[in-house]
Amino acid sequence: EALLEINNLCVDYVSPNGIARAVNNVSLSIAPGETVGIAGESGCGKSTLAFAITRLHKAPGLIPHGEILYQGRDVLKMSPKELRDFRWNDVSIVFQSAMNSLNPVITIGEQLTDVLLAHKKISIKDATAKAAELLSIVGMHGDRLKSFPHQLSGGMRQRVVIAIALALEPKLIIMDEPTTALDVVVEREILNELYDLKERFGFSILFISHDLSLMGEIADRIGVMYAGNLIELGDSKTVFNNP
Ligand code: ADP
Ligand code: ADP
Repeated sequence: EALLEINNLCVDYVSPNGIARAVNNVSLSIAPGETVGIAGESGCGKSTLAFAITRLHKAPGLIPHGEILYQGRDVLKMSPKELRDFRWNDVSIVFQSAMNSLNPVITIGEQLTDVLLAHKKISIKDATAKAAELLSIVGMHGDRLKSFPHQLSGGMRQRVVIAIALALEPKLIIMDEPTTALDVVVEREILNELYDLKERFGFSILFISHDLSLMGEIADRIGVMYAGNLIELGDSKTVFNNP
């Protein structure tokens, strides 16, 4: 039984020059606990696919059609209220740049507790304790709760973003180039950490990257996109040995 099942998804952009198709007829399913990688060159439609799944992309003129079934419910037919719950409780997203996701003038601790307080019936005391626990889950010390984003290294900031993504225990985490902005050593650390977290909590990951070799390590299956189309989808070993 799939956690997420995408059927014949197309996404068009309406621009002054007409309609351009960014995602063309993509079908893909993700099982519980599975990591599916989506690879492909810049501009091939990977981010558009990710945005369409979480409906975050409210860019004027974005038109998705097809089906995105999450546990059988079509994300494309959800009401704003349902989407809001879906966006945090079921699915969360980690982007390439932590600076785009973190608020520069709010401490890490407050950003974590804000997410918990906004979406859970939980006391401030429990939210604070949970925030510290989440930081330790991503390998950071609780002292860091008082830090502002600029006081952390890039790798730590990305860990915080992952901690925030985990806060509501989603079943699916979408990661769009989550380690691309980091140096290779830090990238490796974060990927190992992610691997452990996945083993421990059993969530599914949709992992988007232009880096096929990196994906061969983390993904169970890999899809390759080209010009909006999913041109290949298979077991990561098969795709990897078939360039
Ligand atoms: P990737 O993530 O693989 O780099 P994107 O999904 O960002 O690719 O882009 C896919 C295509 O959609 C590209 O041709 C891009 O120019 C186009 N595109 C992306 N965002 C918009 C937008 N807001 N309006 C019009 N076209 C867009
Ligand atoms: P236990 O406390 O029974 O050892 P776990 O090791 O499973 O529990 O979880 C430790 C913490 O991680 C708990 O606060 C739990 O709420 C949290 N947690 C559980 N599942 C997830 C998840 N999918 N993502 C993030 N945190 C989670």
